[in-house]
Amino acid sequence: MRTTYATKPREQVSAVLRREKRYLSAAEIHAILRKSRTNVSLSTVYRTLDLLAGKGEASARVDERGETTFVVCDQSHHHHAVCNTCGKVEDVSCEAIETVAHALRSHHGFKLADHEMEFFGTCGACR
Ligand SMILES: [Zn+2]
Ligand SMILES: [Zn+2]
Ligand SMILES: [Zn+2]
Repeated sequence: MRTTYATKPREQVSAVLRREKRYLSAAEIHAILRKSRTNVSLSTVYRTLDLLAGKGEASARVDERGETTFVVCDQSHHHHAVCNTCGKVEDVSCEAIETVAHALRSHHGFKLADHEMEFFGTCGACR
């Protein structure tokens, strides 16, 4: 059995995402792992990210360069405030958004399955 070997890249990739707490591309995660002398191939990072996203442990987003980037956070429903300068992601839960989503569902007859919303600006450290 080599199960510990198989779960290792997953732990490493998700550890990087948790530590950085900003949207990172596979190449950026790969570079960070290499810097900490972790020997994981770029294709393994890609595969691991697909796996994490598939399990709902990471969320993906295409950035302005057209690159798919990933962030790992709480699985409970919330929204993101993204810093335009450093890329840091802050979790926000906003009652008002949930109210809008609920209103759309109940007053407009729209069958809302899910919603996503992100806020952009400058974080406290970059301001
Ligand atoms: Zn989050
Ligand atoms: Zn910032
Ligand atoms: Zn919401």
